[in-house]
Amino acid sequence: MKAVLDHVGIAVQDLDKALAFFRDALGLEVEVTEEVYAQRVRAHFIPTGQSAIELLEATASESAIAKYIDKRGPGIHHITLRVPDIRATLAQLKERGVRLVDEQPRPGAEGALVAFIHPSAAHGVLVELKQAARRLVEQWVTQMALGSLQLTTVSDGSFRVDGGAMFGVVPRPLWESKAPPDDSGRIVLAMRALLVEADWGRMLIDCGAGGKLDAKWSQICGLERARSLDHTLAEAGVEPDGIDIVLATHLHFDRVGGAVSRTARGLVPHFPKARYVIRRGEWIAAAEQHPRSRGTYFCDDFLPLEQAGVVDFFDDDREIRPGVRVVRACGHTAHHQVVYLESGGKTAVFAADAVPTQAHIQDNWIAALDLYPMESFAFKQRFLREAIDREHLIFFDHDPSVSAGYIREKDGKRFVQRVI
Ligand SMILES: [Zn+2]
Repeated sequence: MKAVLDHVGIAVQDLDKALAFFRDALGLEVEVTEEVYAQRVRAHFIPTGQSAIELLEATASESAIAKYIDKRGPGIHHITLRVPDIRATLAQLKERGVRLVDEQPRPGAEGALVAFIHPSAAHGVLVELKQAARRLVEQWVTQMALGSLQLTTVSDGSFRVDGGAMFGVVPRPLWESKAPPDDSGRIVLAMRALLVEADWGRMLIDCGAGGKLDAKWSQICGLERARSLDHTLAEAGVEPDGIDIVLATHLHFDRVGGAVSRTARGLVPHFPKARYVIRRGEWIAAAEQHPRSRGTYFCDDFLPLEQAGVVDFFDDDREIRPGVRVVRACGHTAHHQVVYLESGGKTAVFAADAVPTQAHIQDNWIAALDLYPMESFAFKQRFLREAIDREHLIFFDHDPSVSAGYIREKDGKRFVQRVI
């Protein structure tokens, strides 16, 4: 079994005193605070390289942490080992007669699966096993209402990209604790499209990589589509012919590969009754097949749409349907766009590759993949400031664990408050 020390959990009685030591005296940075309502706990994460320290603060007297402190005083509460397959690990431990608290894994923070081993079996130490979120990516269908718009994230699985390519000039020691790379240095990226349902119909914003990639390319980019967009749409109660509009943020293969299917009749639109709404500048750039970007634009993903006569081109920022507005966000590509969803006085944004994961909430965390990084920076600076000040809900469609959340700022530090 391969296990990595994920973090050490410390039960804290007085958070200010704990911060005075860990943050102020040791000089460590407290990066993420997460409220786990079900367990009446607030967890403060302090990254330390590949592992972390988690300060656990009880938020109510019936919290397990409060009870622990009553009984044993503050101190180390548990250690967490990250394993690749938690069910296999639990089966192995059971076979060897190890006493478990949880025989089946349960959902933990950040979309992980967790299970506890009884301290009596581990020399007095409470051991938590954790399988990080990436294996959950395919299963996610999450839903929420935004005014009169019904928003559902639907997944087309995940793929992998070189971590350096996703974080550009940011040094690996800074990003690897937020996005752990595999043995080939690749990080997992979700492919979550957004289904928008309103009285005007059903719109899909982006539609994943689809099923046309060959075996070699699928292996290079670690494509996992055990549960594809069709599966997750079906879970949301929608068949491909129930989609009226497909809106593309841009034409990279992980965004519009799913727009066209290979069938016995050749390459055909995957959503047979949909209009495909595409920004003309992006189309021209994709069709140009420039050597710098042709590895990300595959003509089979979009040219058949035009041949089928189902494309509606447009040129400028506009409202595509009531409550759905596109804004050009030059950087990732010249005509890349983000999608504002506005209803009932609330605003959500499908940020696409302007802020692909929650690790990208810093203005200068910009992917090396971006064709125009200085433009990305200029856009993000404005966009993120507004998102924080006006409390826009941001959809991080490539993030393997958080579908959407609010970007908060405290003492000059940014973090994401997860919503779904
Ligand atoms: Zn892209």
